[in-house]
Amino acid sequence: MSRLIAQIQKIVGEAGLISARDVHERPTNWLGGGNRQALAIVRPASTDELSQVMRLCHENRQTVVPIGGLSGLVQGTETTASDLVVSLERMRKIEHLDEVGATITVQAGVPLQTVQEQAEAVNLAFPVDLGARGSANIGGLIATNAGGNQVIRYGMMREQVLGLEAVLADGTIISSMNSMLKNNAGYDLKQLFIGSEGTLGIVTRAVLRLRPAMISNNTALVALNDFDSISQILKTFSGALGGTLSAFEVMWNNYYSLILKGNSDHKPPLKPEYNYYILIEASGGDLDADAQRFTEVLEELLSNGLILDAVIANSEEQGKALWAIRDDIITLVMTLLPSGAFDVSLPLMHMNNYVSMVENNLQEKWGAKAKLAVFGHLGDCNIHLAVGSGVEGELPHEEVEKAVYEPLAAFGGSVSAEHGIGLEKRNWLSSSRTADEIKLMRTLKAALDPENLLNPGKVLGD
Ligand SMILES: Cc1cc2nc3c(=O)[nH]c(=O)nc-3n(C[C@H](O)[C@H](O)[C@H](O)COP(=O)(O)OP(=O)(O)OC[C@H]3O[C@@H](n4cnc5c(N)ncnc54)[C@H](O)[C@@H]3O)c2cc1C
Repeated sequence: MSRLIAQIQKIVGEAGLISARDVHERPTNWLGGGNRQALAIVRPASTDELSQVMRLCHENRQTVVPIGGLSGLVQGTETTASDLVVSLERMRKIEHLDEVGATITVQAGVPLQTVQEQAEAVNLAFPVDLGARGSANIGGLIATNAGGNQVIRYGMMREQVLGLEAVLADGTIISSMNSMLKNNAGYDLKQLFIGSEGTLGIVTRAVLRLRPAMISNNTALVALNDFDSISQILKTFSGALGGTLSAFEVMWNNYYSLILKGNSDHKPPLKPEYNYYILIEASGGDLDADAQRFTEVLEELLSNGLILDAVIANSEEQGKALWAIRDDIITLVMTLLPSGAFDVSLPLMHMNNYVSMVENNLQEKWGAKAKLAVFGHLGDCNIHLAVGSGVEGELPHEEVEKAVYEPLAAFGGSVSAEHGIGLEKRNWLSSSRTADEIKLMRTLKAALDPENLLNPGKVLGD
């Protein structure tokens, strides 16, 4: 054991350290796979312990990679054998739930699902939701500014964070645990850490905003053939439902058909013969009136031909079955293997052209073998593309990236809508940010972490 590791063990105790010998048994991804390479994994039990560890690392120029639930999708938690990993898996306390102020104060290792359940137990709701809810931690969600299924109504993680605490690369604790909706006293420092992917500080605690629990929930799956109708349908639902629209998820036929074919657990709610399917959800405060209004809007859209077919969930179970099709990432990946997953954003009006350009690029390169499945949070201008080139063995990732990312520039799109940059997209950052924006990002990094010790290489490169 090196002198540094021995000093760290003195701070965190035996339970707080997994040494290099045992590190390889720890996963590198949320499904439990992988073969971790690292100097050690440190598991502090408090912010103070982490601060002492970081001070030592700073003195010894030791690189540190923070990890949460490992559900990130851009290689943000990759490590080399010389990195030290910091995991907050022993910092999982719910510190306080304020029912009147509608806030919850938690340590950053708490999983998303736990926060949701705590809120539900007192008739409140935490509105960030995503497929990896059982694994993703509050620290990871903040570090990636995660989005998810209800952004159209409640915003991304940034909108839910009232305050946070973070430990800087040199061990300084920045405690910005504001719990009020309003606080304009100087710079809003918490914003530095939200979405910075562990490169500017390690988030240790947070005060999160809760919302009233909704009484009604109405979910429908609708089908249509004309892409241009999608924006009209979105506008109609948004306007007619008085702000209660909470999800607007579009699946292209190539995604919908592939999931239904690939997993017989799904009973096809609508025939797989249409070009697009939209999962629409609204939640509000009046069971009968909300259901009636939701049905009326659907009927209006069916009668004017914007929607060609529709199914309404008549129970929570049926609603879950509709969402299960939209969330079946495992079938998607397993069917397309070897595959690449992409998360981009661009204005809704350009999306159809963009997807056609990607399709053309893939066809030109790999002909009919190339497979594409498209779906996403269209109400947030965000689509996910899953690409299988159809070739044996490793996917030619760089070539697929070119096919997917290059057409974005013409539409003012972004190479990352909600997953972040990590290692995977760092070479493409300059196609979505100006040179001056990147220069300012580097200035911030140098100010907070002058030795480049925190999550080195991620986001900005070396
Ligand atoms: C099935 C599935 C569905 C998903 N759906 C969505 C979705 O709809 N929307 C969406 O936005 N994302 C989605 N994701 C991606 C992922 O869930 C989010 O990025 C999530 O926020 C990652 O949290 P985590 O705790 O797993 O973080 P990790 O994967 O462990 O880490 C992610 C990044 O955060 C940094 N980090 C982790 N903890 C801390 C900390 N305490 N302080 C500072 N930095 C830290 C890491 O260094 C890394 O750069 C999905 C992933 C999966 C597997």
